[in-house]
Amino acid sequence: MVFVLKPNVTRDRIDAFIHKFESDGFSTILSTGTEHTVVCLIGNTAKVDVDHIVQTNDIVEYGKRVTEPYKAVNRIVHPENTTVKVGNVSIGEGYFAVIAGPCSVESEEQILEIAKSVQLSGATIMRGGVFKPRTSPYAFQGLQEEGLKMLLAAKKATGLPVVTEIMNQTQIPLLDEVDIIQIGARNMQNFDLLKEVGKCKKPILLKRGLANTIEELLMSAEYIMSEGNEQVILCERGIRTFETMTRNTLDLSAIPLLKQKSHLPVIVDPSHAAGIRSLVAPLAKAAMAVGADGLMIEAHNDPSRALCDGAQSLDLKQFEELMVDLRKRAMFEGKRM
Ligand code: PEP
Ligand code: MN
Repeated sequence: MVFVLKPNVTRDRIDAFIHKFESDGFSTILSTGTEHTVVCLIGNTAKVDVDHIVQTNDIVEYGKRVTEPYKAVNRIVHPENTTVKVGNVSIGEGYFAVIAGPCSVESEEQILEIAKSVQLSGATIMRGGVFKPRTSPYAFQGLQEEGLKMLLAAKKATGLPVVTEIMNQTQIPLLDEVDIIQIGARNMQNFDLLKEVGKCKKPILLKRGLANTIEELLMSAEYIMSEGNEQVILCERGIRTFETMTRNTLDLSAIPLLKQKSHLPVIVDPSHAAGIRSLVAPLAKAAMAVGADGLMIEAHNDPSRALCDGAQSLDLKQFEELMVDLRKRAMFEGKRM
């Protein structure tokens, strides 16, 4: 249940209003935007009479029930768009952020060469997996802590913020200098992990699971936000369908839908969606056209020799060309890149 407050209500009166509900056993979310202040009640609100609350509290403009199971991520609770800031990079309304880099960190030279090149092309955040979730236990599992050092060295050399995937909560202390923690598709419903990253004070990039609904993605974001971390970026990366010619099927409708249902920024990973290099640029453009707030793209200095996901990785020239094209489109879409 949400109560939208009248403009210019003093903080004391808001606190008193909230306190009354909390002493009745509810938890609350207070969202103070530039236009609206919204108080959301969490708990069993079946017996709360909305009209009575509105009539007896003159600070309340109106109240309504939130029928969706997700609250903190819900646009009704937080009407204004959330912008996640990473260093001086913004992901969210009005900005279009491109995260680029290899699927996996393979060597210090490799990650540094890629980082410098994608930065020159206009990427503002670098990716590189070091703990890799692989289908086969015999496949390359990532360079682990050694890879992390290489990734952080590339961060230092370029100044680019970095995102890397976490596999389990024991890795949280290792990721202190990482700017964004990625929860991969396979861990989207690892609820213990979601709760732990919810206690972190850094942005979380939450990828949609291979076979998860949009509502399930939002509920996973809710896990993170309910622990106090409001910096969540949602990522559509393709879902599994009957189609076999692509690695996954990019669910383009998820992007505007997520943006309608939630205030969180939404980015798209066309690389894992397609699994095929030649589809990455067209899908990236489509993502921008349907309102994505950014992209995460796999780019490699030598895709044919990549230890992971080479077939879907752009080479550095292809990435540069795509960025030139995207910048033109961003102007048309009114987004800053
Ligand atoms: C990745 O980004 O390298 C990755 C493993 O992605 P996903 O979790 O979407 O498969
Ligand atoms: Mn990959």
